[in-house]
Amino acid sequence: MSLAVPADLVDPLVLANRILYDQGVVDGLGHASVRHPTEPGVFLLSCNRAPGLVRRQDITCYDFDGNTLSDQKERPYLERFIHAEIYRERPDVMAVVHSHSPSVIPFAITHNALKPVFHMSGFLGEGSAHFEIREAGGNTDMLISSSYLGAALARSLGRHSCVLMRGHGSTVVGTSLQQVVYRAIYAEVNAKLQLGAQALGEITFLNAEEAQLSSDMNDGQLPRSWSLWVRRLGEIDLDR
Ligand code: MN
Repeated sequence: MSLAVPADLVDPLVLANRILYDQGVVDGLGHASVRHPTEPGVFLLSCNRAPGLVRRQDITCYDFDGNTLSDQKERPYLERFIHAEIYRERPDVMAVVHSHSPSVIPFAITHNALKPVFHMSGFLGEGSAHFEIREAGGNTDMLISSSYLGAALARSLGRHSCVLMRGHGSTVVGTSLQQVVYRAIYAEVNAKLQLGAQALGEITFLNAEEAQLSSDMNDGQLPRSWSLWVRRLGEIDLDR
């Protein structure tokens, strides 16, 4: 079976990849995906390509077992199971970003939650979730390279918007590509600010209601940030 990639999601997903690279959230590794709009058991993700180099022809449909459904000869990402199992577990999630953005790592390895230090990161709510791969898989290469490990990660994520992965990175989820890109960028910003503020004294985080209100407010402003991030990319060819 070959499933056509929905044309209207290809360019936004290519742009999401390029933006995340331009903003320093991903490097050679990391990935962004979006759920298929009419086939809820399918998601779109690039084949195994550095996010900054992802092109239209790289975008591929996958099922929740990580099988390629599109006409795609290139190999898939090893960690596509992160996306697959989160979409399976969370019907509300429409887009996912996985990265190793550096400021988040200290929180992941010390089991400290990211919490919202300002209105831009209200989506963090009462704090990020934490995933310990050793509990699920013993000693591994740290990658989520199977459905089994993906399902364990999805369980750790629970209802949160962000899960920190010990010794590895983080994964954020959202209800749209624009929102999840925003969240990935501001998870990294929040981590930097939270680390810096900790050295000065006790932090007053946004409380749950402040976090929800500011998150809702920011969701109405997403196109403003997105258009700036796209403009920063300059004149780019999405086919190469
Ligand atoms: Mn990874």
